[in-house]
Amino acid sequence: MKFAVIGAGISGVSAARMLQDKGHEVTVFEKGTKPGGLVRCDVVDGHLFHRTGGHIFNAKDKEVRDWFWSYFDKEKEFISARRNAKILLKGKVIGYPIENYLYQLDKEIIESVLADFLTIGPGGKKDPFSYSDFADFLKGNFGSTLYQLYFEPYNRKIWNTDLSQVPLGWLEGKLPMPNIKQVLLSNLLREEESSMVHSTFYYPRQGGSQFIIERLATGLDIQCNREITKLEFKSGIWTTNETNTFDSIVFTGDVRQLSELMSIDDRELQHELGGVSNLRSNGTSNLLCETDDTDVSWLYLPDGNTRAHRIIYTGNFSASNNAKGKRKSCVVEFSGHVDERVMKAEIASLPGNLAPIDFNYEPNSYVIQSEDTRARISRIKNILSGYRFHLSGRFAEWEYYNMDKAIFSVMDILKSFRN
Ligand SMILES: Cc1cc2nc3c(=O)[nH]c(=O)nc-3n(C[C@H](O)[C@H](O)[C@H](O)COP(=O)(O)OP(=O)(O)OC[C@H]3O[C@@H](n4cnc5c(N)ncnc54)[C@H](O)[C@@H]3O)c2cc1C
Repeated sequence: MKFAVIGAGISGVSAARMLQDKGHEVTVFEKGTKPGGLVRCDVVDGHLFHRTGGHIFNAKDKEVRDWFWSYFDKEKEFISARRNAKILLKGKVIGYPIENYLYQLDKEIIESVLADFLTIGPGGKKDPFSYSDFADFLKGNFGSTLYQLYFEPYNRKIWNTDLSQVPLGWLEGKLPMPNIKQVLLSNLLREEESSMVHSTFYYPRQGGSQFIIERLATGLDIQCNREITKLEFKSGIWTTNETNTFDSIVFTGDVRQLSELMSIDDRELQHELGGVSNLRSNGTSNLLCETDDTDVSWLYLPDGNTRAHRIIYTGNFSASNNAKGKRKSCVVEFSGHVDERVMKAEIASLPGNLAPIDFNYEPNSYVIQSEDTRARISRIKNILSGYRFHLSGRFAEWEYYNMDKAIFSVMDILKSFRN
């Protein structure tokens, strides 16, 4: 079959890789100047700049792991590291996750948290996800003291929205759910939390996540600076931008744009696509900085004295991420669009004598789901698959995917081709 893959982020490149390895003819169209999407990195003044986040790799699923590692030499090309995350809370550095480091908080706060825990009970609710929204979930599982002190201000910064408007579906597998008994034990025994998502991770020795993309992209026909603005289906054939024809399409772009992009004689589909064109997302603004040395990998910033929500010490992930002879690099991350001048002013209140190097604004980084999003996307996927058009990826499926989940989704879709 002749496939067009739209988008060369991790989803598009993985899909193209798998399809080409199975013998299909594949062309990838990418509107950006190089492959990568959200995982894109550039070298600026000798420092590696993760333009969004600071991408590390981890995969729970064995099939994903096996596929991924078949393209890399794990020992030679990657570093395996332990997460060393901290929280800067009212000027004091606290361990992460906060509930396991209660003993580092002030006495009155500890007393108040304990009072909350006694109300919640040793095992908490039988099903920790049986709350109506994210705000209730956090209050119900951690109590109102920790909610007000940390969970609410931190998550409000990230989501830029009222947490009671955030449904719970996206949380599955994202947060470990220790019960009160485990939390108290961790505090008494002072044991490190090892079951956290990303408590250990892999990171390329050279080039960060751009290395991953470029290795997977080797030998693929990826046409950059090629935005797909029109997708037409007629007589069983797909035509992109009125030029190239394909048997099948894998779309990894933004599902909200499909109702505009797609020309197809199907009223039900057009109706469904119209229903997702207004989904909400959040962007992130990143400031690449030089920093004084630290052994921390992520520093979370819940306090209201800065709009930044975390510092990612990417210079600690691999020594090659830092310019020779300079201090280490890090990325200060802000939710939404924050002007470069504002970001530069904000870092004065952060630790590490930060010196700015470069900045980036990514308008779409976090998807915000509502109650019916999954059902809507599922209906669209069903209809589209009848036209050999497949949605895969964070913004195509409107899922809070990490790289591994994006790869898993591609695998899942490709398996469905056989059925
Ligand atoms: C702040 C942050 C931190 C993260 N950290 C991690 C982490 O540490 N580890 C991890 O595993 N995951 C992490 N993730 C998640 C990870 O970034 C995503 O799961 C993954 O990058 C999604 O890839 P994708 O290919 O689905 O989408 P994208 O990366 O958005 O790729 C889509 C591509 O399609 C292109 N495109 C869109 N429309 C068109 C069009 N019409 N024509 C042509 N091209 C088009 C875009 O330019 C883009 O390159 C993080 C995400 C964020 C926001």
